[in-house]
Amino acid sequence: MIQVRFMSYKKKILLLCFLICFLVFFSLELSAAGKKHVIIINPGHGGKDKGIELTKDVTEKDITLAVALAMRKELTTGNNIEFVLMRDSDKTVDLEERRKIIEEIKPDFLISLHVNGGFGKNASGFEIYYPEFGEDIIKEEKTVKDKKQKKNKLQNDSLTMAKIIQENLNVLFPRKGRGVRKADMPLTDGLLVPSVVVEMSFATNTEDKKKLLSRETQKDVAEALVKSCKKFFR
Ligand SMILES: [Zn+2]
Repeated sequence: MIQVRFMSYKKKILLLCFLICFLVFFSLELSAAGKKHVIIINPGHGGKDKGIELTKDVTEKDITLAVALAMRKELTTGNNIEFVLMRDSDKTVDLEERRKIIEEIKPDFLISLHVNGGFGKNASGFEIYYPEFGEDIIKEEKTVKDKKQKKNKLQNDSLTMAKIIQENLNVLFPRKGRGVRKADMPLTDGLLVPSVVVEMSFATNTEDKKKLLSRETQKDVAEALVKSCKKFFR
């Protein structure tokens, strides 16, 4: 009789432990799912708009799409980030359409992918741009102080992500970084979304071109970008 009671007590404890573990796990899953940060990945060009030419058969639109798809593949489940691809096939999406997608989704961040070109055959390496935000676009805040705060947040978030990406790409391409710069961005002009443009490297440089065309490097770049997103939203 005592033995039976002892066993059932042990079983109860085990059951209780199991229930607690289950509840903790379930609530963690729920809170992670509830706090998903949406990032739009914008593979530059597409369809009729080919971008810069790398070879007779491969243009910028192919490289940006390959990296975006590799990023989606790289982002495993069970984290607080969700990627939305502006396009996941070779199709034309014009500037207005892209802006509309951003306005509809209202992402927490936007990353645009491009390939650089020009400045002579010696120009090489990656470059990251981030936009300048004006206080005049912040309509939902009433006071000057609130407008300023919101503007600063957009600006700081963009710069922070740019620097994280720079750090991670530096590991991949030592001494190849051309820096982080502020630039006008027609895609996000007037929109309240923190963003960066990553010019992955130069199609006009022989060594860079070889890297851009390599599946291995495309995957490495995607990995570095996913790592950066995870760090930013940690
Ligand atoms: Zn481009």
